This record gives sequence, C-alpha cells and structure tokens, in this order.
Amino acid sequence: MRALVTTPGVPHSVAVAEVAAPERRADRVLLRPLEVGVCGTDREIVEGRFGSPPVGEPFLVLGHELLAEVADDGHGFARGDLVTATVRRSCARCGACAAGAPDACATGDYAERGITRLHGFAAELVAEDPAQLVAVPASLGRLGVLAEPASVCERALRHVRAIGARQPWAAERALVLGTGAIGILTTFLLRLDGYEVWTAGRTPAGDGEKAALVSAVGARYVSVRETPPRALADDVGGFDVVVEAAGEAQTMLDAISLLRRNGVACLLGLDGRDQRVELDGRVIGVDAVLGNRAVFGSVNAHRVDWEAAVGHLDAIRARWPEALEAVVGRHVPLDAYPDAFAYRGVKATLALG
Ligand code: BGC
Repeated sequence: MRALVTTPGVPHSVAVAEVAAPERRADRVLLRPLEVGVCGTDREIVEGRFGSPPVGEPFLVLGHELLAEVADDGHGFARGDLVTATVRRSCARCGACAAGAPDACATGDYAERGITRLHGFAAELVAEDPAQLVAVPASLGRLGVLAEPASVCERALRHVRAIGARQPWAAERALVLGTGAIGILTTFLLRLDGYEVWTAGRTPAGDGEKAALVSAVGARYVSVRETPPRALADDVGGFDVVVEAAGEAQTMLDAISLLRRNGVACLLGLDGRDQRVELDGRVIGVDAVLGNRAVFGSVNAHRVDWEAAVGHLDAIRARWPEALEAVVGRHVPLDAYPDAFAYRGVKATLALG
C-alpha cells in the first residue's frame, strides 16, 4: 500500500512509498484513512528537526490528524463509521499514563503516532487499537479531520477553566494570539462558550481569509502590526483568558502582562529558537502576584478532550457551517503532498480516500 514516509533527522527525505499493509488482527480495527491533516509538527519532522521512527525501522509513516472510515465491523464499530484516533500512547511506567492520561505523561517516554516511535496515519490502510478510537458523527463528515487540533485546544481550555475555578471567577473576555489552526479553533471554541473574543494575527485587519474566519464567528480580528496586544489589553481592561498559539517565546512571556485580575494564560505554541526574551520586572514582580494571575503550558489531549472536540466541532458546524468548512482551505491527493506542506492558510489535508 502507499504511504507518506520520511526518515526522521534527514531533511526533505519525505516521499510517497510502497510499504507493507497492516495485518488483520482480532484486537485491531482496520481503518481506511479519508483525510489526514498537516500541521507545524509535520513540517518540523520533514525538515529533519523532530520525530523518530519505530524502533528498528528506518522510516516513519507521517500523519497524526486522522479522519478514517472503519473498514470491517467489530469492536462496537460498523463498516463505514467515521472515526479519529488519539495520538499519544502510554509510556507504561508512570502514574499519569496508568491513569489513562498520557497527555500528562511524567516520564516523557510516551510514543506518538506519526511523530515519535509509532507510524502515523498517512497511508491507505491503518490498524488501530479500538480503545484509541473516537467516533466522529456523520454530520461532521470530512471536517472530523479537525478533531486532533481541536482536542489540543479543548485540553487547553479545560485546564484554563480548572485553574480559573480555583477561586471565584467569572471569565468574559479572551485574547487568542495566533491564527493558525490552533488559534482559529480556540477562537471558535471560546465563541461557542460565549466569550467575547479578540484574535490577533500579523496580517492587516480587514485583509485575508484568517481575519474573515475570526469575524465569521463573532470574534474581533486585531492586527498586531496595527494594535500591539499590550495596547489592546490596556484599551479593553485586560483579558480573563489569553491563549498563545503564535509560537513566539516573547509573545508567550508578554501574555502575563495582558491578563486582568485572576486571569489565566495558556501557552500552546512552541518556539525552540536560541534567544533571550524580556519582561518589565514589575509585571512578574508585582502585577502577577497582586492580580492572582496564572500562566501554564499545555500539549496533547486526554480522551475527554477528544470527545469534547468532536461534539463541539459538530456544534460549531451547526452554528457557523461556512466558517468551519473554510478552516480546511485545501484537500490534496497524496501525490500532491508538497502542496499541503507549502500551504499557508489555516489547514491543508491529504485526501486519501
Ligand atoms: C500534536 C500533539 C503532540 C505534539 C508534540 C502536536 O503537533 O498535536 O498531539 O503531542 O505535537 O509531539
């Protein structure tokens, strides 16, 4: 069967290759991937900066954002059912993984499909442990491919709520920094939850599809070039929730300064550049303390987040159908994978089936 493979650590070794099809096994569900999303992590892997193959194998099958069709009846699934699958798998030796929460793995020795030590989903057939499958409603259709990035946003917002709720808290205003898939889906989820939302990106206001997507769900697009986040925070009186999804360490640090009293900031982007970032000492030394502010990082997702993601995506589809449809700006066949990797809109997918 055909699959999109790469040799981790070897830049631009990505190719469509013929690989062995998975064996039919009684403890696995056979899936036909329909859509596999491409994200920043996939780009890092193909650039040779991240990822590892399964032990003893030279290559890694890419793809961790899956929408698939069940190929055979069994394990509570029927042929043709739409499903997605979790990404991270237990390290088998920490309490968090034993408790079913590899998103909180304490050892870091977890495996992730399509990223570290487990083949991914960008293949004609995939075999999966039924316990890792999450049902996708037929009404969501191909947009079920957004379940993985949405699950990451769900985890972030679940933790925001848990941290905020450590004391009486009535959160109303949120700022999302970044307009990639994580920033846009977080914007949609916060709007669904009734927040007043500002979403900041680099393109000028009123220009481009990302600003249009933000406005389509009733959030306000802000160009950071025209209105720096600090000026915006001063103008609105600070935010209860800030989510950094731009992947800039300076912006992450600045998030502390954008919160109002009792505010919570979540860092979702990644920035591995060797650099120094700066903050006015009074922000951390005075404001963060006197304002009971909290900042935390979040990665991956628990099963509860996957289930929330699928349900909320379907609610978003019902409320803002065109906006959700427009999040996936390009579906390309497997052979045209370079187009998906080069795409600069919110989300491109490999359409496999
Ligand atoms: C994925 C997460 C994963 C993380 C680190 C992200 O792109 O969405 O599931 O945990 O990369 O590998």
